[in-house]
Amino acid sequence: MARPCQCCSSPRHERIDVELAGGETLASVARRNHVSVDSLKRHKARHLSPAFTAVAVEHVREQSARGAYDQTVDRLESLIDRLEDLLAVAEDRKSLVGGANIAREIRSALELVARLRGELDTRPVNVAFNVMASEEFAEVLSTIIGTLEPWPEARVAIADKLNAIDVQGVRA
Ligand SMILES: [Zn+2]
Repeated sequence: MARPCQCCSSPRHERIDVELAGGETLASVARRNHVSVDSLKRHKARHLSPAFTAVAVEHVREQSARGAYDQTVDRLESLIDRLEDLLAVAEDRKSLVGGANIAREIRSALELVARLRGELDTRPVNVAFNVMASEEFAEVLSTIIGTLEPWPEARVAIADKLNAIDVQGVRA
C-alpha cells in the first residue's frame, strides 16, 4: 500500500502549500514544518495545484516590486541627507551660488520622493498591490485551500477560478 503523503497529512499542510507556492526553498519549508525534503519534493510535484502556484507566484512578484520601490525611496532619502550636509558646508563657506544649487537639488529629490509616495498611496494599482502583498491574502488563500480539503474537485475548481482572475485588469 502506498504511504500517505507526509505533507498532505501534516496539520501544517496549508502553510506548506503557501510557502512552497511562494517559492521558498524546500530545505527551509521542510525545516519550518517538520517534514522531509523528499516528501516535499513529491508533494510539490503531485499535489500542489498549478493554479494555486500561479496565484502565489504573482503574490511574491508584487512583493519584490514593492521591495525595489522601497529601495529607490531609501536611496533618494540618503541622497537628501548627504545634500543637506553639503548645504551646511556651503553655508559655512558663505557660498551663495553653491548653496542655491544644492538647495535646488534637495528640492527636486524631495519632490521625487513625494511623487513616488503619492503614487503608491493614491493610484488604484496599489489597492491590488497591497492586497496581494498582505499577510491576510496569504491567510485567505490558505483558508480556502484548507477548507476545501474534503472536496478535491471543488479545490481544483476554485484554483482554476483563481487562476482565471485577470490580475492585470484589477490593476489597470
Ligand atoms: Zn501531498
